[in-house]
Order: sequence, then structure tokens, then C-alpha cells
Amino acid sequence: MTKKRVVIIGGGAAGLMAAGQAAIAGAEVVLLEKMKRPGRKICISGKGRCNVTNSAPIEEFIEHFGKNGRFLRQAFSYFFSRELIHFFENNGLKVTLERGGRYFPKSGKAPDILKTLLQWISRLDVTIRDNCQVSSILLKNDTISGVATSQGIIHCNAVILASGGASYPATGSTGDGYRLTEPLGHTIVPIRPALVPLEVRGGVPSELAGLELRNIAVRLFIEGKKRRQLFGELHFLRYGVGGPTILTLSGDAVDALQAGKSVILAVDLKAALSEQKLDARLIRDFEKRHKEDLAGVLRGLLPAALIPLCLEQTDLPPDRRAGEISKKERKKLLHWLKELRFEISRHRPLKEAIVTAGGVSLKEVDPRTMESKIISGLYLAGEVLDLNGNTGGYNLQAAFSTGWLAGRNAGSS
Ligand SMILES: Cc1cc2nc3c(=O)[nH]c(=O)nc-3n(C[C@H](O)[C@H](O)[C@H](O)COP(=O)(O)OP(=O)(O)OC[C@H]3O[C@@H](n4cnc5c(N)ncnc54)[C@H](O)[C@@H]3O)c2cc1C
Repeated sequence: MTKKRVVIIGGGAAGLMAAGQAAIAGAEVVLLEKMKRPGRKICISGKGRCNVTNSAPIEEFIEHFGKNGRFLRQAFSYFFSRELIHFFENNGLKVTLERGGRYFPKSGKAPDILKTLLQWISRLDVTIRDNCQVSSILLKNDTISGVATSQGIIHCNAVILASGGASYPATGSTGDGYRLTEPLGHTIVPIRPALVPLEVRGGVPSELAGLELRNIAVRLFIEGKKRRQLFGELHFLRYGVGGPTILTLSGDAVDALQAGKSVILAVDLKAALSEQKLDARLIRDFEKRHKEDLAGVLRGLLPAALIPLCLEQTDLPPDRRAGEISKKERKKLLHWLKELRFEISRHRPLKEAIVTAGGVSLKEVDPRTMESKIISGLYLAGEVLDLNGNTGGYNLQAAFSTGWLAGRNAGSS
């Protein structure tokens, strides 16, 4: 009897995991990758260290994907972080747990994740065709018959579409999956950037670019109403703001900006102190250093790069002695420290987003198998789906879990 043949479109995290699992399930597997080599995005992930997953329990994991997270429950119930960690360790790659529950390869090198996956699928006799771009998915009697590629037609019994989203296109993720599935009758939920830096109206002062603030709180206001608050890190960029808190808030900000609504960020530079405690600290500092000028005292309170902005926005005289600062002036400074405001004018483009929001509608995919409800024999996995999670290893785990489930189901006869 001839084996079932499964074609995988895309050699990212989802496609590589799907390829190995389809082979384990008994299929002949051909993985098609349009770039020179698979796994480019894996290699740049986590700033080149690859945050592969997170120690959060399933419920919390699902929350990190917003309202679409529930779709992942089945995939996570089969193959979750524990299984992924075992998978890597059984294949000779040690991982280590860091702050925020984030797992990284112990070597600190993202390419080691790719290497482990490639060695694994090679042992399972998966055929990889590089430089092979799929241009259409072929059907016969409404079921899968093959794919048309830049290297000719390849016949098969099932296809796993794992072509990724449309962000960081230099990695090969250029939105092909949407163009491949729309003609087959799938709905594409409009794509937009997620986990993306934001631009501040008028830019940020040049001395701030590169400054990274820790232990701050950021509040997001949409049309003047507080939407969310996050604690953590914020990075100033040439044109605006980025870093973990901003990336996490960016999904809501992007939706608001696209709807023409006003978006304001208010940064609490002293999030660990209540207003009362901060005021008491200012009084203490001003008394203790009453002979010094204000600019000098501020150096004990703020990163140096923020002082000119503070003086400009509060209108406080830098050469005034600390002992001569009035109560009104102190309150002005207190307010500025607790609520440094930035008006957001735009979000950065999709090509700079860590993930793509939107994609193939989840309503048309069976979460128990990852098979299309429209085309029999078509399976979908990874970021091509309308799924996007927060930073912290959630997106890669979702790619691996959905890839695992698609592979197991597509590969079995
Ligand atoms: C800079 C950056 C850092 C990130 N860091 C992290 C992190 O640390 N942790 C985390 O969890 N997530 C991270 N992410 C997100 C995560 O990398 C992705 O969500 C995940 O890799 C998606 O995997 P995928 O397999 O679905 O798609 P992709 O990795 O995008 O793979 C899709 C593959 O399909 C190929 N392809 C596309 N179209 C075709 C076609 N027509 N024919 C053949 N092949 C095709 C592409 O070339 C590509 O190789 C990061 C993303 C970026 C951009």
C-alpha cells in the first residue's frame, strides 16, 4: 500500500513541527519552503535567543491570546509547554527558565532551536524543498489533490498550510497564506500589526532615543477613557515608544488609531510609590539638599536624559535652589512624575510588527484537528490563523501546538 502524502507549506515553527508529526503518524512528508532555508523567523526571535514558550498554566496562556484564545484549548491539551520542553530536551537541547516564566535554549542561541527541529525531521525522513514557493492549492472534487509551486506541481493527499503571517516579510512571511486560501472560500479577518511600536506626535526629544525605563507603569487612554494599565519596561525610540509594555498595549492602540480615535499614553515614572509617598520623598529630598539647584536634585530622581523634558514640561527653573521650591511647584513635579503624557499619532507598519493580527478565520477551522471546515484535506497551523498572543513565548508555543495537531491529523490515514 502506498503511503499518504502530506505537503507542508512553510518551514517555520508550525510547519517544522507539523512535518515531523505527520511523518510520525505514518505519512510521506514533503516540506516546501520558499526561502533559501527554513526557519528564518525562529532565528531572529527573542532578540536571537528565541523565547520558545512560557511556564504559565493553560488558562493564563489562553488569556494572552484575547478573545480568540479559546480556539487553542484543544491544541494545548495535546501538546503544551511541558511537552515542548520535553521534546527539545529529548532531542538534546537544554532549555532554561527566566524572569516572567519565559523559556529559552540554555545555549542562548535561537539557531539551536532550528537546528534541533531540522535534525529531528531529517531522522524522520521528511523531504525539504528549499526555494520552492507555493502559488496555489489544487483541488479535485473539492478535496486536496496537490500544490502548484515554483518547481512544478506536487501531488498529495493533504496539505498543511503553515505559511505564517505578514510581518517581518524578509523572513518569508509575506501573507501568501491569505492569497492561497481566499480563492478556496476561506474568510480572511483583516490583517493588522500586533506587538508593534507606536509613534509619538512630534517625535521624542533626540536625547531620549535609546533610553530604557524599568519598573514604570503605562496607562492607555482611548478617547480620554482609561483602557488598560501595565507595569514593566518602556523603551524610547527615535520616533516614539516600544518595549514590552508598549508592545502589549499596541493591539488596543492599533484598533483605536485605525478607527480614528485619540490615543494617549500616560507613564508613571515612580510606579512603586503612591502619590503620598512620592510627595513625602520629594519633601525629604528638597529639605536635605536645600542648597543645591533643582536640576541637581532631579538627577537623584530621574535618568539624566529625562531631566530637560521634565524642566520644559513643568516650567520649573533649573537653577532655583531646592529649598526655595514652592508647594505648588513641588505638586507640579509630582504630577509630571506620576503622569508623563504622550499623544500617539500612528503605529509602525505591519512589516515591523512582531506578529500579525487577523488571518484565516477560526470559525472555518476545526480546533480538534486543525482541518479546514471548507476543504477536506487542508489543515492550517501557526500565525496564518487569526491568532496573536502577547510577548513571552506564547506565539511560538501556539505555532508548535497547532503544528503538532495538524501534523498528527493530516498524517494519519
Ligand atoms: C522579531 C521577532 C521576534 C519574535 N520573538 C518571539 C519570541 O521570542 N517568542 C515567541 O513566542 N514569538 C516570537 N515571535 C513571533 C513568532 O516568531 C511567530 O509567531 C512564529 O514564528 C510563527 O511561526 P509560523 O510557523 O506560523 O510562521 P513563520 O515563522 O512566519 O514561518 C512561515 C514560513 O512559511 C514560508 N512561506 C510563506 N509563504 C510560502 C509559500 N507560498 N510557499 C512556501 N513557503 C512559504 C516562509 O518563508 C516561512 O519560512 C517573534 C517574531 C518576530 C518577528
